[in-house]
Amino acid sequence: MTPGRRILRLASHAAGKSDVGRVREINEDRMLLLDHAGRGMAVYAVADGLGGHAGGDVASTLAVETLARELPALLAEGGPARDALLETVRRANAAIYAAARGTERAGMATTCTAVLVNGGEGLVAHVGDSRAYLVRGHETRQLTTDHSLAGELARLGAPVQAGAHGQRHVLTRALGAAQDVEIDCVAEVLRAGDVLVLTTDGLHNAVPAEEIGAVVRAAANLEEACGMLVGLANARGGVDNASAIVIRLAPWRGGRALRLLAPIGLAAFLAGGLAAVRLEHAYFLGVRDDRVAVMRGVPVRVLGISLSGVVRVTPVPVSRVAPAYRGRLAQGIPTASPEEAERMVPGLLSHP
Ligand code: MG
Repeated sequence: MTPGRRILRLASHAAGKSDVGRVREINEDRMLLLDHAGRGMAVYAVADGLGGHAGGDVASTLAVETLARELPALLAEGGPARDALLETVRRANAAIYAAARGTERAGMATTCTAVLVNGGEGLVAHVGDSRAYLVRGHETRQLTTDHSLAGELARLGAPVQAGAHGQRHVLTRALGAAQDVEIDCVAEVLRAGDVLVLTTDGLHNAVPAEEIGAVVRAAANLEEACGMLVGLANARGGVDNASAIVIRLAPWRGGRALRLLAPIGLAAFLAGGLAAVRLEHAYFLGVRDDRVAVMRGVPVRVLGISLSGVVRVTPVPVSRVAPAYRGRLAQGIPTASPEEAERMVPGLLSHP
């Protein structure tokens, strides 16, 4: 995080596509797209399993399943998001290692590149040779470092030789390969209009970074971008499973619930119709009478009408909330359920 730079709250919208390719029999790539990981955060990940018959697909599945299950639970405990993300990836490593040990799947492992979108910050946790790119305007930048022989050699200043090396794709780090794993973590301040792209090597070995950027800029929408990227990988031989997740950052407009609500008709809501039903399923933490409150609906007013109601006012005064969270609380912090909202409260407090 750059000191002194204001981090704007952003909303993320994503699509993903994974394809077996034209040569392999099974797809060992897995993807995770979790728009609501808790505390208003979203998490996206790709995992590329290694081990063939020894269970590469089991390893990559365990990685994304562990992320999907453990990350929301850890975030709900209220600690720093970075710690929760890294701990989740460590747990995925342990789960794969334990599942492989002493079985015919010994040796199975997976790459894992996960991005946690936390307001206006992207936190990337990364092991292996899958990648995260940031497409900003006409620039496309790789945020991750490949943990492969080629990647290590390139860092030592031998990129040309590495490209010709027969063992260049051998991984130097993977999830599940050992009891402990070293995880790279990169934080990136994001801006509205930025696009994050997660890829497995079947995709980025066939489609260079600049072309990934060009496709993202040219596509009419996120789904089309994913389809074009995977289509290019297949058109160039499809020698490996290929996966792409494309994530667009947009200005925050009061939460995803409102975005869902608008197309089905604000007029219907105002007439007490269908949209009101949807609002019953959206929750956030907000403020009522200077106390932290669990609210139902979305934290906005339309035509002077509030689109939210109180579920419960907690005994916690806003003055006990850490200053860093007060602004977000005033805007409303989306949660998946009233129970999750309650669990988040202790994590917001300032501790003397
Ligand atoms: Mg691959």
